[in-house]
Amino acid sequence: MGRITLHRGDITTEAEADAIVNAANSSLLGGGGVDGAIHRAAGPALLQECRRLGGCATGDAKITGAGNLPVKHVIHAVGPVWHGGGAGEPEALASCYARAIELAAEHGDARVALPAISTGVYGYPLDLAASVAIDATRKALDAHPEVEEARFWLFGEPAYAAFEAALS
Ligand code: ADP
Repeated sequence: MGRITLHRGDITTEAEADAIVNAANSSLLGGGGVDGAIHRAAGPALLQECRRLGGCATGDAKITGAGNLPVKHVIHAVGPVWHGGGAGEPEALASCYARAIELAAEHGDARVALPAISTGVYGYPLDLAASVAIDATRKALDAHPEVEEARFWLFGEPAYAAFEAALS
């Protein structure tokens, strides 16, 4: 069974993973937060590749090369905007992680770095998002044993604490 590990800081400094998951928006054409950081670090080749994908539905993910990032792939996952929790947000968020791990498995990425999808501009409460993220990722790792490690990168102490609590 695959492992889940927690890391503090900027996901673009990741050098041990095969793929980095991006918290993208449905246009896949870049944005702020972790999306902006990933596109800045990857360089313009990433945006060029994303333009050809024609966007991505909420709860789904698409994979590209990684430009200048020291990993093989970027997996662009589109999380839900928080509308209070009764609009399918938990299912959509779980689906993001499931699709990301599934794509990693299909493309031979044994180690995957992930951010706390939807917990920034999209407003998903951290503690709720953390428990969905950990639960969905555990299930996905069980379903895809070729993915050996899910490496969560948490930006700021509240995010780290929420994921630590969800993991234990
Ligand atoms: P979303 O639109 O899905 O909410 P954001 O990028 O606004 O995406 O935020 C998602 C999470 O990523 C937030 O917890 C935010 O603090 C975190 N974050 C922002 N920049 C980085 C980064 N460089 N590395 C890792 N996490 C980041």
